[in-house]
Amino acid sequence: MSATGQCLCGAVKFTAEDVDPHVHACHCSMCRNWTGGPMQAAQVGKVAFSGEAFIKRYASSEWAERGFCTQCGTSLFYRLKEPEMYMMPTGLFEDEEQFELAGEIFIDEKPGGYSFAGDHPRMTAAEFMASIGAPEAD
Ligand SMILES: [Zn+2]
Ligand SMILES: [Zn+2]
Repeated sequence: MSATGQCLCGAVKFTAEDVDPHVHACHCSMCRNWTGGPMQAAQVGKVAFSGEAFIKRYASSEWAERGFCTQCGTSLFYRLKEPEMYMMPTGLFEDEEQFELAGEIFIDEKPGGYSFAGDHPRMTAAEFMASIGAPEAD
């Protein structure tokens, strides 16, 4: 499915294609530092931005970057370089009701002060990295 959204100030708008409605919440320390809390993000196949001049990309690792709006600071996307893939926080989308929490990852990095209800898979960092065939975290 395709879906639209924007940052807090509206300088950056986007239309995403092939949006997966089954989202994962990530409790890893980097996502929590970046967004200020656990990140619920939707995987999107393709995304077209307007207001590209307001997007700053931060290289958070050798294999990925995180984009944000330079005017309001909204966390816009996590982009894996190879194969190219975008994860976008569900809070950016116009219609958040389309999303369903399908699982939690990096559950072993979750602070004790909150937890999500629901009967869905909860993977540790090691379990998650093994499931995608990657050797390292983040
Ligand atoms: Zn903005
Ligand atoms: Zn994370």
